[in-house]
Amino acid sequence: MGGTTEARRLAERLADRADLAVTLSLAGRTMTPAPQPVPVRLGGFGGSQGLADHIAATRIDVLVDATHPYAATISANAARAAALAKVPLVALRRPAWVAVPGDRWTEVADTAGAVAALGRVPRHVFLALGRQEIAPFAAAPQHRYLVRSVDPVTPPLDVPHAVYVVARGPFADIDERSLLTRHRIDIIVAKNSGGSATYGKIAAARALGLAVVMLRRPALPQVAAVETVDDAVAAIGHAFAPAAARGV
Ligand code: NAP
Repeated sequence: MGGTTEARRLAERLADRADLAVTLSLAGRTMTPAPQPVPVRLGGFGGSQGLADHIAATRIDVLVDATHPYAATISANAARAAALAKVPLVALRRPAWVAVPGDRWTEVADTAGAVAALGRVPRHVFLALGRQEIAPFAAAPQHRYLVRSVDPVTPPLDVPHAVYVVARGPFADIDERSLLTRHRIDIIVAKNSGGSATYGKIAAARALGLAVVMLRRPALPQVAAVETVDDAVAAIGHAFAPAAARGV
């Protein structure tokens, strides 16, 4: 289960393994998904039972949840489906970013909290969120928005001042700094995605002294998880080890 840089990297690591047949599952949200090194399956399964049925029907031996830390529904479904289908689950979770001296973060629970945190005074806001998450900002039309997304935002945000940038990461610090300066941004709304591909805007905000409204991560199922692609490769190997070696 992918849709992340790590899932693609993990697939690259496993693609040539003669002992494995790997399929990467994507939700199908982006119009032109990045090329992948293994066969791809697109679209939902119909909840955890649907995923469990798919696992049984296609005789999958190990389920890997390498989805985005904010994709909480599919992670919960993956945990339930692995239990229902009685297959091992390997969860790959990027560690969250941690604020360091110089960061000016305000943490909020959700996008409604982010809208409130922007305040009433008009500001130049960089929305670094998915295109399906920005609608609540129409409630704060006094701000000027810079919206960056992988696919175009349609329909556009119902506010008088919004500029759209269509781009896919990774984004370098230096480019982020020039984007923020060019658009005279004074506050950023972001998710705590972790990893390096989208950290550039956080580093740039720190360098420029800008505020960041950070959406807190959603609760994910309590399952054993690894943090790196290397550890995921090892965990997959472990899942195939004889039961005695697995301590079962
Ligand atoms: P979500 O809210 O947790 O999932 C909603 C539904 O989409 C799931 O119930 C499932 O449908 C389907 N789905 C999600 N991920 C899937 C996958 N990898 N393969 C097949 N079906 C999937 O997820 P989301 O936040 O919409 O994210 C969708 C995808 O985009 C994920 O693969 C995630 O890794 C990626 N992504 C998300 C974010 C983010 O911020 N949320 C950012 C970057 C990438 P059924 O119940 O019908 O199976």
